[in-house]
Amino acid sequence: MKAPGVRWLMPPMRMDEGQVPELQARRTRYALQSEQSEDVALLAGLKPLICREVSWGEAQERAEFFQQRGLCAQLRRAAPAPSTAWLLAGRSEAAVQEASELLASAPQEPRGRQRLGSLLGYPPCCVRAHVEGAEDEAERMAQIAARTQGPGEPWLNVLDPSIFRLLSWEPCSFQCALSFTYAQRLEGLLRPHFRPFLQRLRESLSSARLYLSPQVQLSLEGEPWDDEFLPRYVLPTARDRDPSSPLDPQDERAVARALQEVRATQKIGSEAGCLLLDGAPWARGFLVRFRA
Ligand SMILES: [Zn+2]
Repeated sequence: MKAPGVRWLMPPMRMDEGQVPELQARRTRYALQSEQSEDVALLAGLKPLICREVSWGEAQERAEFFQQRGLCAQLRRAAPAPSTAWLLAGRSEAAVQEASELLASAPQEPRGRQRLGSLLGYPPCCVRAHVEGAEDEAERMAQIAARTQGPGEPWLNVLDPSIFRLLSWEPCSFQCALSFTYAQRLEGLLRPHFRPFLQRLRESLSSARLYLSPQVQLSLEGEPWDDEFLPRYVLPTARDRDPSSPLDPQDERAVARALQEVRATQKIGSEAGCLLLDGAPWARGFLVRFRA
C-alpha cells in the first residue's frame, strides 16, 4: 500500500530545487543489512523464529543456509505475489509449522497476528501495541512517538524503514525496555565485527527526527527549550539510508521543501499532531528526540 504523502498546512516558500544536491548523497557505507543482523539473532538463540518475504529465486538457497546450521526452515509461496515466498526458519519445527499455517489462514486477523508476533519472539507489549495500533504506518509511528516520554533509545529508532535497524519489529515506544534489552544484546554480538558501522549508525539514529511521512524525514541537532526545539543544523534523514534505497522524485521534492523551510526556522513546536514553525502551523507530523 502506498503511504500517503505529506499533509502540508502552509503554502511553500519560494524554492530553487537545484540547491539541494545533498539529497542524493549517502554518507554511510553499509557493512551489514538489517536481515543479516536478524539472522545473527536467530543463530545465536536471541530470537526463536524469523519470517521474511524473499524472492522465489533465492528462497531455496536461503532455506538451506539455515538447515545446514541445524535449524528448521520452510518455504511458503506468498499468495498475492507468486514470485516471492515466505521463508520461515527457527529452532522448533512445531513453531515453524504453526507460523506457516497462520500465514496461510488468517494473516490479518488480530488473534493470528498476535500469535505470530509471539512465535517470532517480539515483546508482548510491542505485539499488543502493533495489533491495536493504526493501520497506516505514519499514524502508527505518531502513536509510538506519543507513548515516548523524553528522549528515545537510538536503536529503537525505526522511523525510516530504509535505514539499518537491529529490531525486526516496531517497538511500543522508543523507550520499550524489552526491545532495548534485545537491541543491546544483538549489538553486543555484532560489535566485534562491525564496530565502525554500528557506531556511525547509532550516531545518526540519535539525532532528533522530524517525521512527515515514512519517506519524508529530517534529522536535526539542536536544543530542546520548553516544549519547543531550536534546530542548530538539519540534514535529510535519507542520507543515512543504504545507497541502494533512493527516494522517489515526489518524496525528494517534499524533503527539499521541508529542509529549506526548517533551515529558515528558529524554533519548532507541535500541537495536536501538527508541527509549528516559529509558531505557525506547517504540516502534519511530529518531532521526537533520541538519547545521545
Ligand atoms: Zn514494547
